[in-house]
Parts: sequence; C-alpha cells; structure tokens
Amino acid sequence: STMAPVETEKSITLPPPHFVLVPLMGQGHTTPMADLACLIAGRGVRVSLVTTPVNAARLRGLADRARGAMLPLEIVELPFPQADDGLPRGSNDNSDNVLQLFLSLYRLAGPLEAYVRSLPWRPSCIISDSCNPWTVGVARSVGIPRLTFTGPSCFYSLCDFNVAKHGLLHNGVVVPGMPVRVELSKDTWAAAFLTCMPAWGKFVEEVREGIRMADGAMVNTFLGLEEQFVACYEAALGKPVWALGPFFLNSRDEEARAVDQSAVIAWLDMMDQSTVVYVCFGSLAQMLPKQLYEVGHGLEDSGKPFLWVVKESEMVLPEAQEWLQALEARTAGQGLIVRGWAPQIAILSHRAVGGFMTHCGWNSLLESVAHGVPVITWPHFGDQFLNEWLVVDVLGVGVPVMPFGNDKAMVRGHIARAVSELMGGGAVAEERRRKCKEYKERAHGAIAKGGSSHENLTLLLHSFMWSGSKEE
Ligand code: UDP
Repeated sequence: STMAPVETEKSITLPPPHFVLVPLMGQGHTTPMADLACLIAGRGVRVSLVTTPVNAARLRGLADRARGAMLPLEIVELPFPQADDGLPRGSNDNSDNVLQLFLSLYRLAGPLEAYVRSLPWRPSCIISDSCNPWTVGVARSVGIPRLTFTGPSCFYSLCDFNVAKHGLLHNGVVVPGMPVRVELSKDTWAAAFLTCMPAWGKFVEEVREGIRMADGAMVNTFLGLEEQFVACYEAALGKPVWALGPFFLNSRDEEARAVDQSAVIAWLDMMDQSTVVYVCFGSLAQMLPKQLYEVGHGLEDSGKPFLWVVKESEMVLPEAQEWLQALEARTAGQGLIVRGWAPQIAILSHRAVGGFMTHCGWNSLLESVAHGVPVITWPHFGDQFLNEWLVVDVLGVGVPVMPFGNDKAMVRGHIARAVSELMGGGAVAEERRRKCKEYKERAHGAIAKGGSSHENLTLLLHSFMWSGSKEE
C-alpha cells in the first residue's frame, strides 16, 4: 500500500514520497528503468514512470504486472509534440539516427513540466536517465530534486567523468584519475568517449553537465562488484552514488525462468551442464554479413555447442539466409540459431549455459555475472569498451575475442580460440569460473534483505521521507 502522509514532530503533514522516473525511450534503456520502478514501488512508495505513446505499448506487460501485484506504480503517457525542429531526417547512418532520437526527446520537457505541475502534491524527486539531460531544466523550474540514472557500469561513468575533467585534448592512452590502470588504443579511446563522432559533441557535454548538476546518481550495479569505483565516483561527483542493482534480479529473473517454455529452452534441456556458449550482441549492434560469416565459422570450428542469436536485420540478404541454413545443416546437434529475439535471462539462468559471447552492453554483462556465467567480450561502441576492461582486466571473468578493441582483423580463428579458452579446462579457465560464481553469490546477497543494494534503497527512500519538500 502507498505510504500515508508523514506526521513530523511539529505536526506538519508532508506529502507521501513520490518518484517520477524519466527513462530514455528505446528497448535497452527502458528495461532497467522499468525494473527500478518496480523496485521502488515494491517498497510501497508511489512511482510514476513517464513514457511516450509509442513506447507505452512496450510497457503494457509491466503495467499489468504492477496492477496484479497492487504496486503503487502508474505509467504516465506524455503527449509527444510534433516535430518542427528543422532536424535532418532520413540518414542511413545508425549512429545519426540514435542521436536524432535522443535529441527529439528534448521536446518532452514541456509536457513533463505540465504533468508535474498538474499533481496535487509536488513529487519528491525526478529520476532521469542521464541521456535525458533536458530534465535539468524541468526539475529546476518546478523546484524538486533530480537524481540521474546512469545506464553503464560505474567504472565507465568514472572513466568518462575523469576524461572530461582532465581534458580530452591530451587524447592520451591512459585514462586519468583511476584507481586501476586503464589503457586504450587511440582508436578505442575515440570510440569509447565518442570523440570519433563530432556530431555528438554538444549532446555528450550536456549529458555530462546533467550528471554534474544532479543531486546524486543511481547505478545498476552492486558493491560486491564495483565497490571501489562507486566510492571513487562518489568522491569525484561530490554527491551520493546509490548502487542498487542488479535491478532485474528483484523482479524479472524468477519470472523469466518460471514462464519460459520456448523451443530454445527445450533445446538447452537436452544439453549437458555448462557446455553451451550463448552468443548475442544486444538489441542495437549489427553485424555485417562478412562478420556474420566469421562468427558462424568460428563457432563451428570451435567444436563446442553454441546458441547464437541473429537479428532479422542481419539477414536481409538472401545470401545470408542461405548461408545460415547451410551452417545449421552442418552443425545440427552442435548449434542452435535463433532468429530475432531470444529470452536472454532465461537462457543465462539455464544450467546448460557455460559461457556468453557478448558485445558488452552493461545489461548483458550484469545479467551474465549475476548468473555466474563468464564471458567472451567483443565490444562495438561507446561504454562497451570500458565495460570490457572491467570484466576482463579488473574482475577477471572474461576473455577478449581480440586484444583490446581492435576488431579490424576479426577472423574465425580468434573466435574459435576465445571459445576454447573460455569453455575449456585448465587452471585459468577454472579460476575464471570460480570468480564468476562468487560474483553470482554476491549479486544475490546484495539484493536480499540486509544486502548492500537492499539497504541502499532503504536509505535513499528514507532520505526523501524525512526531508521531503513542502508545498510552496
Ligand atoms: N536482450 C534479450 N534478447 C535478445 C537481445 C537482447 O532479451 O535477443 C536483452 C538483454 O537481456 C538485455 C538487453 O536486451 O537486457 C540488452 O541490453 P544491453 O545493455 O546488453 O545492450 P544494448 O542492447 O543496450 O546494446
């Protein structure tokens, strides 16, 4: 049930806490924010999750679930003002389209402010995806605190903060101000901190400023994984950094395992314990046909069982489809190819899965680590390069498919080698698996009652209950 208004000593009635969450529209980013909404509402605190009409369809499942569990969670559909901004349209470059999407969301500032002002009580706080820096103006205008939710690892957020602070001009190869050594090639540096895309410059600066201006940051991680980086980030920002994750373990994990009856799971049921390598590159990264062939041959040559997710958009060419069918025929019994979307959490929690080849999106890495599955890393873009450094170099639970970041000469031999290294025996591979199991235990410990993420959420909610803002 929702918390009743709080009686203070002076008998002033403070409004009950209420959080307004503003996710970045788009699959990979909305999911953790939706999980966070459930987490907060699960404590009986009122949550409004803001969305656009297009995105609302994706959240229908969540809305039903919340209603079923009687959570004080509502989905608020904001009208999306029509475009009249002179922005270029119809670019074929995927990164351009992504930027245009991010920029188009700035138009939600007016509708969000109107929504907040329409409420009988001022909300306690806005929680904004850090890629929505336009919420800074809304929070200031209505006079309520604002926390940012940063999607990637805390390690990445700290690297990015330090690089921005100490200046990008040096363009050195060592990330400054880190408690561990982080060294990138020049190309990787440019791809990781987006300096290779000048069109993004202004937006990237606004995101950074939005994080610096916030009253604190929320990260989807846990102290047992990133404690030193959470501490350093907190010191760097001079604001609280709340490690509350892994978000998905609280709600979707059990659900995914309980309901999934798909053919994929039936196939996994036939395989031996920890023998299958799962291969999936997230919701955005796209393989060229050439890369697709190398991945396929590499998996085939490794001789190990594999479960490989290929996107519809990667199979538009008839040649690619034919090639995949031929591969399927040759590897029947060894491999399974899933076309489109796979139930990733159910797959990673299956006992047959012993490794995960990933593009190092933070959600994927967290899902893997929280299930005790070590990874093969093949980053494509942005924060993924630093997430790779974290899991390979710092945490010791990953094998890079190529020595850091250089995927120019990616060939099947590298893939086959990485699969053998990860899935094989030997002391190094065993140690990797042991560490990963330990992080799995810690992840579950963190979200259990009394665990660090659970306690952090309690502290965070309390900080808004007792110093809640009064009406003007
Ligand atoms: N995902 C999934 N099935 C797929 C591909 C992706 O369920 O076939 C989910 C995955 O579990 C993760 C998210 O989509 O939660 C991808 O997020 P991530 O941060 O790893 O990468 P992004 O898609 O943002 O690049």
